[in-house]
Amino acid sequence: MCDAIWSAGSDAYPSVDLSQLPEKDKYGARLEKNYAEFERLCEQVRPLVPAGVPLWPGTKFGPLVGPAKGEFGPLCLSLPWRLLMRREALEQVLAVGVRGMKGCRTAMRFRQKNPPELLELELLPRGRLHPDCLPPDRLAPCVKCGRIGWSLPEKPMLEAASLPEDLDVFRVGDFTTVLVGTERFVEAVRQLGFEQDILFRELPVR
Ligand SMILES: [Zn+2]
Repeated sequence: MCDAIWSAGSDAYPSVDLSQLPEKDKYGARLEKNYAEFERLCEQVRPLVPAGVPLWPGTKFGPLVGPAKGEFGPLCLSLPWRLLMRREALEQVLAVGVRGMKGCRTAMRFRQKNPPELLELELLPRGRLHPDCLPPDRLAPCVKCGRIGWSLPEKPMLEAASLPEDLDVFRVGDFTTVLVGTERFVEAVRQLGFEQDILFRELPVR
């Protein structure tokens, strides 16, 4: 209905294994012009993904693959919306009570000796931005595909009532490139000395 050719590209479910799906080849990077077919393919994977998540075009499934090299801190962002953690760091963060962090295996190819074991966090889209930080003249999301046509505000603000109570790290539901950690998460990372490769910025909540 909106005629947009788009992809969110930031949502990823690294725990989801599509290898047993008979039509797995249809889930590679490509353009599906038939919207009904896109919806059918979404429904086919819905039982495999966490309950209630949107399945935007461009959603990634399965372990992160590709070449990798270099040094990795305890936490690092290989993309601004993709959080990787060394296994031992994740275990320590979990041990101090940080909630809702699911580390999934990656399948990167290291050429160096003794490569680190890096896990990708499966971050769920939850909560949304407060309407007061969004353009007042914005159009509603597309009723067919859900596309949001406005860009991320310079000063994002979270809507308190929409935030999850059981997760300490998540994506913002209507801006899935934005990762949010609660104060509990940030404190844990700082106290453990894991902050070298990431940067936190405080977000207002209303
Ligand atoms: Zn649309």
